Amino acid sequence: MSADLLKFVELAQRRPPQRPAETRRRDFAEIYDEFAPERAAEQASRCSQCGIPFCQVHCPLHNNIPDWLKLTAEGRLEEAYELASATNTFPEICGRICPQDRLCEGNCVIEKGFESVTIGAVERYITETAFENGWVTGPRPPRERDASIGIVGAGPAGLAAADLLRRHGYQITVYDRHDRVGGLLTYGIPNFKLEKSIIARRAELLEESGVVFRLDTEIGRDIGFADLRGRHDAVLIATGVYKARDMKAPGIGLPGIVPALDFLIASNRKGLGDAVPAFDVGTLDGRDKDVVVIGGGDTAMDCVRTAVRQGARQVTCLYRRDRGNMPGSQREVGYAIDEGVVFEFLSAPEAFLGHDRVEAVRAVRMRLGAPDASGRLTPQTVEGSDFRIQADLVFMALGFDPEPIAERFAEPSLETTRWGTLKTAFLTGATSLPDVWAAGDIVRGASLVVWAIRDGRDAATAIHQQLEARASGAVAAE
Ligand code: FAD
Ligand code: SF4
Ligand code: SF4
Repeated sequence: MSADLLKFVELAQRRPPQRPAETRRRDFAEIYDEFAPERAAEQASRCSQCGIPFCQVHCPLHNNIPDWLKLTAEGRLEEAYELASATNTFPEICGRICPQDRLCEGNCVIEKGFESVTIGAVERYITETAFENGWVTGPRPPRERDASIGIVGAGPAGLAAADLLRRHGYQITVYDRHDRVGGLLTYGIPNFKLEKSIIARRAELLEESGVVFRLDTEIGRDIGFADLRGRHDAVLIATGVYKARDMKAPGIGLPGIVPALDFLIASNRKGLGDAVPAFDVGTLDGRDKDVVVIGGGDTAMDCVRTAVRQGARQVTCLYRRDRGNMPGSQREVGYAIDEGVVFEFLSAPEAFLGHDRVEAVRAVRMRLGAPDASGRLTPQTVEGSDFRIQADLVFMALGFDPEPIAERFAEPSLETTRWGTLKTAFLTGATSLPDVWAAGDIVRGASLVVWAIRDGRDAATAIHQQLEARASGAVAAE
């Protein structure tokens, strides 16, 4: 083993420089700076090159982490990038927004008492260095193929599939109802986690390589799904999940109570320079307001931190379980606390109060009772514990369900699960319809970017195998 590694004993964990909370809460720029080159090599050298690397096992893409850490420690960054990009279509994005504390880093088994290797930050550093040096290119297929593939949805699942299929030489058209590429990367996740130029840079590379984007085009409305199938040899559905979960409570319909994604889309559009009338008249702007966010996942954390940056007077997050039971990344919760968000854990809204619009939330304290069927502790109301929080704006971040896709595509034989997600074959993403595959949140339910990339790549591989077999005469077209 190289003498450059195993340095975790003498070198402490150091993340790239983080901008102080007081500064970063005033703008939408990313909160981490890049590693300096010597610091990246140093941090990569903390890896103990495990025989069974649990970091890799728990990365949904099974990235070859120990090997690219070793190459980084040795300063062989072009090779490190080649390795990192062999399994991950967008390593610079995962390096920024994967919940590493639950995935690779959370499973790094550096000896007890030592903190994990900073895997995500090194992955980001390798890829940013590759962009700076011109090592990152779009797909360059060795030969063109006639077969054409239509991809519905330009989020991470659709883009990862487009990239891989284009590398094989297929003719790719990606359709999206939005006016920009990226799905939730562009319109859900705020700039302070992922700057929009990072996504635009990837979209440009795909476009240069021959991928055609048909934006502002909704399948099921502007183009029928049957028509789309007629235009392409294969279709991939990667439409994500967008139906916001709601709750029943007195006053829930009052103006000022808004689905979280409406707020985040408005803020992201504003940041991109678009005209957003609802923002300009204050309906979706937290400035000088008391903001309450209901929920404890990634979307809730993005809302509270966005409201802080908009200049809200006070931002409160109401979550019905305790901090340890929050579904989102603990790191993100820590950032929100540092940035001044008030957390009311073990609290749930009972009623929304106000006349013409919301003025306050009446909440009640909870305690955690016995586990439910999924093993999570069930929150129970503490009688007589209600309290009131001032609120000019309330954002509901209770999760997302799929829109009724078979209905929207007028395709009753497109089979769905009881949760409304698409039913697909394990690992291939094949749906119940011939030559139609699916990937990402529309299959898993609301999940993670890294899983969307994984699914997009798996579906692309399955599509390629089927089209190859058909071209060689082994499989007949249906
Ligand atoms: P999406 O990204 O949702 O993309 C689907 C695309 O399909 C969209 O562009 C949509 O416009 C398009 N579309 C839908 N229907 C049609 C149609 N009929 N015709 C044409 N186009 C259509 N994950 C992380 O890993 N880390 C995070 O920090 C993180 N933060 C998040 C924050 C928020 C606020 C949210 C909502 C999610 C977050 N996630 C995060 C989850 C992550 O964004 C998703 O799991 C991921 O984007 C799913 O990718 P996808 O390609 O399946 O779908
Ligand atoms: Fe970790 Fe995500 Fe990178 Fe995998 S893709 S190594 S989970 S940051
Ligand atoms: Fe290196 Fe940690 Fe992965 Fe082991 S688990 S190979 S120490 S990064």
